[in-house]
Amino acid sequence: MSSILNDVVIIGAGLSGAVLALALNENSIPCRIYEARYERDRALGSGVSIAPNGCRVLDRLGILERIAPKSYQTEYQVIKDAAGRSIRRVNIANPDIYGYKTYRLYRHVLLDELRKVLNERKIHVEYGAKFERIVEETAYGVTFLVNGEIKRASLLIGADGIHSAVRRYISPQPPEYTGIACVYGHLPAGSIQWPTREFEKACTIQDDPGVLFMGPEVADGSELLVGRQFAYPTLDRTGWEALETDKSRLCSLFCKDYEGFQQLAKSIMDQISARKEGLLLWPYYRMPKLEHWSSILGHITIIGDAAHAIPPSSGQGVNQAFEDAHTLALLLGSLSRKTELKEALDFWYHLRQTRIDAVVRKAQETDILRLPRTERLLLKQRPESESSQESQSTDHGMKWLYMPTTDDEITAWIRVPS
Ligand SMILES: Cc1cc2nc3c(=O)[nH]c(=O)nc-3n(C[C@H](O)[C@H](O)[C@H](O)COP(=O)(O)OP(=O)(O)OC[C@H]3O[C@@H](n4cnc5c(N)ncnc54)[C@H](O)[C@@H]3O)c2cc1C
Repeated sequence: MSSILNDVVIIGAGLSGAVLALALNENSIPCRIYEARYERDRALGSGVSIAPNGCRVLDRLGILERIAPKSYQTEYQVIKDAAGRSIRRVNIANPDIYGYKTYRLYRHVLLDELRKVLNERKIHVEYGAKFERIVEETAYGVTFLVNGEIKRASLLIGADGIHSAVRRYISPQPPEYTGIACVYGHLPAGSIQWPTREFEKACTIQDDPGVLFMGPEVADGSELLVGRQFAYPTLDRTGWEALETDKSRLCSLFCKDYEGFQQLAKSIMDQISARKEGLLLWPYYRMPKLEHWSSILGHITIIGDAAHAIPPSSGQGVNQAFEDAHTLALLLGSLSRKTELKEALDFWYHLRQTRIDAVVRKAQETDILRLPRTERLLLKQRPESESSQESQSTDHGMKWLYMPTTDDEITAWIRVPS
């Protein structure tokens, strides 16, 4: 094994850091993790959707079968009109074509399972260990500060999320606010009188004043997340925190234009208002495209949201983070002593960034579906937006996303380094 892989350190035991550690372990590369939060800290209180491309990564690591009984599994996302009639079924995950359905489960449930497996595979995670900054990078490795103490690594991988401290060594670029914020909450599926017994709850309800999107968070579909997104002026960190704690303000945002909605949306808003203490705020930030994800000497690199936080409407944040983890571990595991690490990381960056660019384009289609009716109709008159929405709903239309060919590209590159 190349000496660069003798002492690999990951910063962050979130979703991408945990999966990276397991993928490195599969490739016989030992590693350890520093995580700022404590093990007992509860992860964000909402679910994540794992699309077929993310499922494939988890399946290879033996995680998918463990989370299957805890996940709501679906093939379709349904677009509904204000009365709740289905107007379009978007095939988001046909298992006959893509191999998997989409799995949705609470983030803490997924994270707990990943951390259990880290434990079983004896991968050391130090909790309450906050990475502060890089001290020095040389041709031999990296020194850095964790909780004020100097640590060393041959390779340091930042999986420390959108506000990454590791990224600061690679790029000064901060994340940028998209101008859109989402308010979301949870309710028991049984609290709503649905228009039909078979009403599909993984859906988007398009009413005139706005759109509600929802999805089941648990295997039997009994708990639902419901969200609305709006244009909202930018705030600083304290401002966002103050808004998040002001549940009455969040509730009036969620119920904005209440009188203009039809009965179905109104009854959902009524139930959410009755549970307004549970409302959460999600201002959408994204990372501008970076020129590279690694330092000049190649001993420091970033993955997941640290490298490319993408618009939430893509539904691909976690899934792309899993792809980063899988492909990086595969690449590192196949490196020969002759291959230059920096050259390999640059190849990997281009491979991954090309996919991220395509995912960002896809997110713009979903953003259109979530606009109020007047704005949606205006955009629909543009020929390019209609045709792209149709291509998404065709049966094989998502193969590029759900069945990536990156493994083959890595294998081919390793055989014939440029
Ligand atoms: C409400 C919400 C819903 C979402 N739903 C979906 C979805 O359905 N599907 C989807 O694909 N994506 C979804 N996303 C996006 C997805 O959550 C992110 O893309 C994903 O979590 C990125 O994983 P990550 O590991 O890179 O970052 P994170 O999940 O942010 O993890 C970073 C980790 O690093 C740790 N850390 C941070 N700084 C330090 C430091 N200095 N030292 C040590 N450790 C540190 C953090 O404590 C954390 O554990 C959603 C996001 C939100 C906010």
